[in-house]
Amino acid sequence: MPAMGGLRHGALAIALGVLSFGAFGCAEDEAGPAGSGHILLVTVDTLRADHMGLYGYARATTPQIDRFFGERGRLFLRAYATSAYTSPSVVSVLTGLLPQDHRVRLFLQLLGDEIPLLSEMLPAPYESAAFVSNSVLTDEAMGIGHRFDHYDDFVGEREANRAAFERTARRTTDAVLRWLRDERDPDRPLFLWVHYIDPHGPYGPPEEPPLRFSHDQPLPIDIARVPVVQRRRGQDDGLDYVDRYDEEIAYADAQIGRLFDAWAEIGPVDDSLVLFTADHGETLMEHERWFDHGYHVYEELVRVPLLLRGYGVPPGRSEALVSGVDLVPTILGFAGAPVDPALPGFDLRDPEAIASDRAVFAEARRWRTAIQGDRKWMLEYRQGRREIMDRRFYDLARDPGEQSPEPWQQEGTTTRWLLELGERDPDPGGYPHDPRRGHKLEAPKISPHATPEQLEQLRALGYVE
Ligand SMILES: [Zn+2]
Repeated sequence: MPAMGGLRHGALAIALGVLSFGAFGCAEDEAGPAGSGHILLVTVDTLRADHMGLYGYARATTPQIDRFFGERGRLFLRAYATSAYTSPSVVSVLTGLLPQDHRVRLFLQLLGDEIPLLSEMLPAPYESAAFVSNSVLTDEAMGIGHRFDHYDDFVGEREANRAAFERTARRTTDAVLRWLRDERDPDRPLFLWVHYIDPHGPYGPPEEPPLRFSHDQPLPIDIARVPVVQRRRGQDDGLDYVDRYDEEIAYADAQIGRLFDAWAEIGPVDDSLVLFTADHGETLMEHERWFDHGYHVYEELVRVPLLLRGYGVPPGRSEALVSGVDLVPTILGFAGAPVDPALPGFDLRDPEAIASDRAVFAEARRWRTAIQGDRKWMLEYRQGRREIMDRRFYDLARDPGEQSPEPWQQEGTTTRWLLELGERDPDPGGYPHDPRRGHKLEAPKISPHATPEQLEQLRALGYVE
């Protein structure tokens, strides 16, 4: 692999391993200054950074997250998911690998047991627990439940207008709080991962308060650009969709605030490590498709929030290009565990560690992109093939909205890296060549707290006997 890939990063990672041992290792070897060494990873589905207060959004969508990270946290202004789809992106966060290396490319593909998962890379004393809310992250869909000490994937509520299942933020936080109170081993350091799904479409907070967000002038839109599951009957005011998307964010934020309050009760927050990100963004009314994700690698789809707070994390704002693959080295560095030098990411706690000339990668179906500085290259492959259909270049400083693609230009290390990734992709064009790796989701998990009415609904849909 050329300079952007494992070799150079590998050498850097070894050097960083030594550095970070010097900088952070001592204290953590003795469990931090007063430290618990606990780790909290929060991921929110479909959350755009630019719809959060800390990232400059004018509406008060995220007061709890802003409060938690504002003064003491580190804000990454230029963070990218590795994929505009849930499963590949989340698996990158949990493995530190690009999608073509962990090989989960679509929904309902099992992660191979040979691919190391974060919960298993942490040192032995760690207890690992996960609470997921999206049906594509259940154990049936991903096969990773047995790789955590505790995997709670009860997603027994049907989303409005569709057959997919989810769990609301309130129920997700309730489940975490119950487990923290009744089941957690207080003598072990904890790695806790919580995934919230609420901003994912169809938009509509489950508990309708008086709506917080509204607008004066409607913005009529072409409803044909909106996915069918997302359409609200008769609603062709684009800003109504934006209001509701923001409502979902604010609803999740309040529940994440409850989680943060509970986190503060199990130990000093600033002796722990708290990481916050999203699996991908969402189109509002930018390009071809509206109120959707997964189909392309435009900025609104692959830019995500990324926030850190805790021991060894310098507060402030960072312009560095960072990626979902950086979370594994960051967490392992905090835990004093060795980082596989072949992993492509960096320990984000150390501002000096992030190579200033690095490139980050993202994909979505047939599209691949590499971003370096303000330059962004895109390739479109024919599905299931190594044949390149389209090549584009954008200068994000000149054209941040990616409105005018320029011809492919400025060939160099990054473009060679991007092309080489395509060449060695085991599933060309991002489509799994072996369908046996896929797994059909047969049933959602039914919450033990489901009401008789909910069970009846599930029976009517054929999901439970
Ligand atoms: Zn998602």
